[in-house]
Amino acid sequence: MPPAPPLLHDLACVVHLHSTYSDGTGTVAEIAAAGRAAGVDVVLLTDHDTLEARARGEEGWHGSVLLLVGEEVSPRGRNHYLAFGLDEPVDHTGLDSAGIVRAVAEAGGFGFAAHPFSKGSERFKRFAAGLPFHDIETAGLTGIELWSFVTDAGESVGSVRDMVRFLARPIDVLDHPPAENMETWDRLCGQRRVVAIGGLDAHQIGVRVGNRVPVRLMAYRRSFRQLRTHVLCEELLSGDLDHDRDQVYGALREGRCYIAVDALAPARGFSFWGETPDGARLPMGAEAPAGDWTLRATVPRPAQLRLRRDGNEVASALGGEVAHPTAGEAGVYRVTATLEHRGRDRTWVVSNPIYLR
Ligand SMILES: [Zn+2]
Ligand SMILES: [Zn+2]
Repeated sequence: MPPAPPLLHDLACVVHLHSTYSDGTGTVAEIAAAGRAAGVDVVLLTDHDTLEARARGEEGWHGSVLLLVGEEVSPRGRNHYLAFGLDEPVDHTGLDSAGIVRAVAEAGGFGFAAHPFSKGSERFKRFAAGLPFHDIETAGLTGIELWSFVTDAGESVGSVRDMVRFLARPIDVLDHPPAENMETWDRLCGQRRVVAIGGLDAHQIGVRVGNRVPVRLMAYRRSFRQLRTHVLCEELLSGDLDHDRDQVYGALREGRCYIAVDALAPARGFSFWGETPDGARLPMGAEAPAGDWTLRATVPRPAQLRLRRDGNEVASALGGEVAHPTAGEAGVYRVTATLEHRGRDRTWVVSNPIYLR
């Protein structure tokens, strides 16, 4: 029998977005409709310092889209934290980054440092000061927004012309997560599990007039097609909100998820796992003692696959599959897949690691 990945259910999520309850221009109903139009399974709303959508009973299924409500804990100028699993918004007054992480955990939630590597832009005022996350090594967070659609692209463009290009064809600007983000993440993972997600920070920046937003830079629907975080759920979603929320949040907490630029090609079906000759299986995000593990990754269409240990390439393949017998070697293993698009190599998939210690 050919090797088979663990049986998991792949759902495409868009993470980190703002509605009219904070500084976005779309209502929850409009955002859910945009999710349906873009073919998304789950929308993770994160308004600044509010769970208003949840309080109003808007969390749940909107047709084919499951909309879950977290919040972006948003102290002024730093330490933004995408927090999920909360019943009440967190009061961050006077808290540093570790204090925010602790407050979210004590309230039963978990979270991700938002745009943690933000440095600001010399060219554009919106990003001028940067909104970094301090003490990322020691804060004890669940994970990080490794790749931020708005921050990483917005801070990298150097001219109005490039900004216009980004707005017209984001896929031409969004090529790879910044190398510095990847290096820092690899270093953090050497110490402990740090879950990586891709975030949009979608606001649909524009002007709302009554029930319409006639002036807008990028519609939710368009940004939803770009960068997604796919979660791998152990059980099928059933329509029961508590059950379905637990499935999605469980996958995010455990790192059973991967980042994909679905605008390049649909990534659903990507898989990365470990297996032993006696039939044990390790899903993405898991940690286990080093041993006779072979690591395998498959993609739903041919791509350039690279498997890395502690950031260094140990195996690669051009095709649908890559495998690497670890021969007992400990390390943090992860996979990327790249595709050529308009003459350039682009990151298509970034896995979470398998940690062999
Ligand atoms: Zn933010
Ligand atoms: Zn935000």
